[in-house]
Amino acid sequence: MTIFQKIIDGQIPAKVVFEDDLSMAFHDVAPQAPMHILVIPKRAIRGISGVCEADKELLGHLLWVASVVATQQGVSADGYRLVINDGRDGGQSVPHLHVHLLAGRAMNWPPG
Ligand code: AMP
Repeated sequence: MTIFQKIIDGQIPAKVVFEDDLSMAFHDVAPQAPMHILVIPKRAIRGISGVCEADKELLGHLLWVASVVATQQGVSADGYRLVINDGRDGGQSVPHLHVHLLAGRAMNWPPG
């Protein structure tokens, strides 16, 4: 069981900012920007490389949630970055699909 599954199940706490039937959004414990929130599906999907055609609607939903959370958090005007890390070379450390929502500073490009 991943750490995110434990958050979904309420076994460990998280600073939740959004929740619906399909998804949750909560603050990252090790923020890489002044605002760093993770948007995750409640269904256990190991990463973006593990999705199938039936997940298309859910994937769109996660991006919609990220947009809603960014607006709620007041960062939409200045902009923000969404990141999905996948697998070893992508830097993924938790094998449960998640979208990073980073804001509150100017982001660098290219990413490291
Ligand atoms: P990634 O490296 O893309 O898999 O991102 C995993 C993220 O999960 C990292 O940014 C971690 O800081 C974050 N993280 C790990 N454990 C927790 C936790 N218990 N609550 C919130 N965020 C977490």
